[in-house]
Amino acid sequence: MAKGAFAESGADLQLDGIKKRFPGFTAIEHLDLTIPAGSFFALLGPSGCGKTTTLRLVAGLEEPTEGRILIGGQDVTRTKTYQRPVNTVFQSYALFPHMTILENVAFGLRRRKIGDPVGKAHEALRLVELDHLAARRPAQLSGGQQQRVALARAIVNRPALLLLDEPLGALDLKLRRQMQLELKSIQTEVGLTFVHVTHDQEEAMTMADTVAVMNKGRIEQMGSPEVLYELPSTVFVANFLGQSNLFAGPVQETGSETLGVDVGGNRIQVPRSRAQRTSGYVTVGVRPEKLTLHASPETIPSGANSLGPGRVTDVSFSGVSTQYLVDVPGVGTIVVFAQNLASGPVAQLGGEVWVAWDAAHTFVLADEPP
Ligand code: ATP
Repeated sequence: MAKGAFAESGADLQLDGIKKRFPGFTAIEHLDLTIPAGSFFALLGPSGCGKTTTLRLVAGLEEPTEGRILIGGQDVTRTKTYQRPVNTVFQSYALFPHMTILENVAFGLRRRKIGDPVGKAHEALRLVELDHLAARRPAQLSGGQQQRVALARAIVNRPALLLLDEPLGALDLKLRRQMQLELKSIQTEVGLTFVHVTHDQEEAMTMADTVAVMNKGRIEQMGSPEVLYELPSTVFVANFLGQSNLFAGPVQETGSETLGVDVGGNRIQVPRSRAQRTSGYVTVGVRPEKLTLHASPETIPSGANSLGPGRVTDVSFSGVSTQYLVDVPGVGTIVVFAQNLASGPVAQLGGEVWVAWDAAHTFVLADEPP
């Protein structure tokens, strides 16, 4: 794909102390956020957490109750929607049915009397690899192709900022996965700033270089997908992005490098650098795929964290891996994901096991345990 006319870069977006109150409901409690130019940013959160409201504020479809919005350093808080360097792609992409694909993409350029609308529309269609279908009408395209036309229509305007509100929501799972990779590669190609709203954690992690996890009108945590996954800072993030095993217990030992936390009578070591709290009662976590199962404590490497003995109460096979549930008295149910290796299953239903993991994978959350 050639960069051609799309080589212009995006602008950064800054939300400064944003609050949005609707009559009787505060949708955004407080938002301070800077999204660097040229990045692919995902706002991730459950339904009703305020994602769409945030996008609508940036697009100028809503006015903030408090705070400022800056695009490329310019304060646009009171700027009209059509004067902002922003385009939005929604889940329902509403192409004009009576126009060809080319006319659909060129429409906005013609209306704004921008030169060479046809050439620019072809270029945008080449970018989404649909130029060969330029003469067709929307009804003659698949859902994924229509979505790509909607994207071409947004990109052709060369907005400094492209807002995507669940744009893949209407597609089936396979097409969705394919479009995620395509969207990412188009973003890399055009270098614009993409702000993508989704409630699908896998989608956010696959595409974005930075993810902000939103909950109840606030950002709980923001960072690269790897950091959010490896080092969640709150219970909400630990459970919303993948699965976590969370245990509560008192800190009993505070070393310069590690903390020792008592979990049901077992000493669990946590690197200090991975602990958001270092004293009192804390929530300790570890991801299920970091755990290994052992038929006896002798096979556990020295220095590893371990809990047990416990009993395997459920085994569910899912192709590449198997999920084991292990009940450890005084601790609770632990979820373990084990890769299915040629050597066969690592534990049997009803069997006695110890759960172990490298202490380096343990984290302590910022929340106070319940
Ligand atoms: P979803 O994933 O379901 O689209 P969302 O995270 O995008 O959810 P928003 O659409 O931003 O959520 O809505 C946030 C909250 O604000 C919701 O509780 C919603 O009911 C409320 N809300 C949104 N618009 C209005 C409005 N015009 N008046 C009153 N409340 C509103």
